[in-house]
Order: sequence, then C-alpha cells, then structure tokens
Amino acid sequence: MSASPRPTRLAPADSETLRAAAEVLRGGGLVAMPTETVYGLAGDATNDRAVAAIYAAKGRPDFNPLIAHFAEAQSAAREAEFDSFAEKLAAAFWPGPLTIVAPVAKACRVSLLARAGLDTLGLRVPAHPIARALIAAAKVPLAAPSANRSGRLSPTTAAHVLADLDGRIDWILDGGSTPLGVESTIVACLGGPPRLLRPGALARERIEAELGVALARQSEAGAPLAPGMLASHYAPRARLRLEAHDVGRNEAALDFAGALGVSTSRLDLSPDGDLDEAAANLFAYLRALDAGGAARIAVAPIPERGLGVAINDRLRRAAAPRPEA
Ligand code: AMP
Ligand code: MG
Repeated sequence: MSASPRPTRLAPADSETLRAAAEVLRGGGLVAMPTETVYGLAGDATNDRAVAAIYAAKGRPDFNPLIAHFAEAQSAAREAEFDSFAEKLAAAFWPGPLTIVAPVAKACRVSLLARAGLDTLGLRVPAHPIARALIAAAKVPLAAPSANRSGRLSPTTAAHVLADLDGRIDWILDGGSTPLGVESTIVACLGGPPRLLRPGALARERIEAELGVALARQSEAGAPLAPGMLASHYAPRARLRLEAHDVGRNEAALDFAGALGVSTSRLDLSPDGDLDEAAANLFAYLRALDAGGAARIAVAPIPERGLGVAINDRLRRAAAPRPEA
C-alpha cells in the first residue's frame, strides 16, 4: 500500500528548507509543519492524490473532512460562501486558532476527498509564521490534519511527529513547541445560527462576544440540528449495492481493478488496483455516477487493507438506509 517508506527529512524551518518543502508540496508530497495549535500534516489541498497520501500516512480507518489552511483571509474567502457571521469571525480571529465551516464556492479548488465529498469546507488561516510562510511559498491551500498516526495524541513538537511518522512523510519543519497545544475551535456558518462543532483553542465566550449571539450547540453524534444544514457524510442519491460481482441492466458500476468488466456507465476507481488512487477518485466518481441518473450503483469489492478500510467505511455509510429528507 501507500505510505511506502520514504526518507523523512527533519530540519529547522529556515528560508532554504521552506522553499524545498514548498516544492515537495507542489509535487504532491507531505510536510509536517508547526502551527500555533499543533503540528499539522500538510499536503496540497487541491490534489486528490496528495490528500489520499495524508490519510494513508496517518493510517486513518475513515475519511473525516480535513481543514484547508490558507496564508491570507482573502484567499480563503474565494473558496467558500461566507455569511455575515463568517465574515465577522474571519475579520476578528484570523489569523488564529479558529476554523470556519462554510458552503463551498462554485469555484472551490479544494479536493472532494479533503472535503469527504461534502459541499461544505473547513477553512483556517493559521497565525504561526512558519505555517503561513510555507502556505505562501506552496501557493496552494494546504490540507493539514494533526501530524500523528490515527488514534495517537496530537503532536506539539517535531520529535512527536518524528516518532509517529518517520519514513511515512517527506519533511518535518521544526519550529519548536507549538504555543497553544490544542486544536482549533470549529464553528459552522451555514446560513442558520452559527454552531460550535468543536471546542478548541479559541474560547467560545470570545466568539459569542464578537458575534453578539450565543453559539448553537452541536447536537448529539454530529446529527444536523436542522435538516440539510450540515450533513456529516456525503450520500449519493442512488442506492449502492456493495460487494457486487456483476452489473444489473439498470445499474451503474463503480469498479475496482476491472472486476466488474465492461459495461455502460462504469467508472473504475483504479484499473491497476491501487487503493490510494481509488481513494483519490472515490467521491468524484460517486458523484459522476449519481449525476448519470442511475437508481442503483453496483460497487465492486474493495480490499480491506490500507486506504481500502476507509473506502469501505465510507461506502457502507453511503449504502446504509437513511432517513427521508
Ligand atoms: P483536525 O484536522 O484533525 O483538527 O480535524 C478536523 C476537524 O474538522 C474534524 O473534526 C472534522 O470533522 C472538522 N471539519 C473539517 N471540515 C469540515 C466540514 N466541511 N464539515 C464539518 N466538519 C468539518
Ligand atoms: Mg487529530
């Protein structure tokens, strides 16, 4: 699978290493960078393959949407539709430890995989000078979850990152200890009252004082408070038939490694059986098949290893019976 062993370079972040690391990011590689919250594992947020490599390096068993990091508030605002609450929050707290979840703009360049297929996007402008310099040099938004293996603690030093990800990523930029040491606060601004999705380094009281309203609370288990306000998972309109070995007359086909053979309306996640490539294509192909109008999509078996685990998790959720909207 991916995350094949690669030499990990650990170096203090100076102008030369920043330039080299930015070059690696533009080529689809992975760089751990200090932010004011914790170290982030950064990849080009506009490149599905780079995003798949992030999930693979972390060993995640699922696809959570990732936060896209920007050097400037203006470049963030181009990727999403900010309501008046989001605009106020960005003006007051960026750069800083606040993530805003907003509907994507039509022109949004952030990878569907980074968004876990959703039409919303988590955005942040970090305050740490090294993170900002790296994003500016890379000239693309960076998807950057915490730079730890799945299930381990968030790293606050370069040594923590090395202990978890040595041999799995290209660069670790050492910027010393991260000043805040806890994750960003996440607020969703999706047209209704703004909602606190995750408490974090920016106190709720400061946000409420700025907005002049109380933040609505995230309901249990991440379920949306109002229908359609915040889907936690992308779900196609078509029904999915998993572990399929053939394709019915009226079915579209989501294939893997050519298992389902030739049929009309078939997309192969990876003709060569590469699970990272399959992950990178997953949401785009589901959407394309769904847009074709088939009532049902036959899905080939996906091996339960590497990113196949996360792909299967997502397919099972998409196939599960869901409440009527
Ligand atoms: P981390 O990057 O590890 O700090 O975690 C990212 C967090 O942001 C997760 O809890 C995600 O569920 C949340 N998040 C990012 N983007 C979105 C989004 N579009 N909608 C809802 N939550 C999001
Ligand atoms: Mg994390």
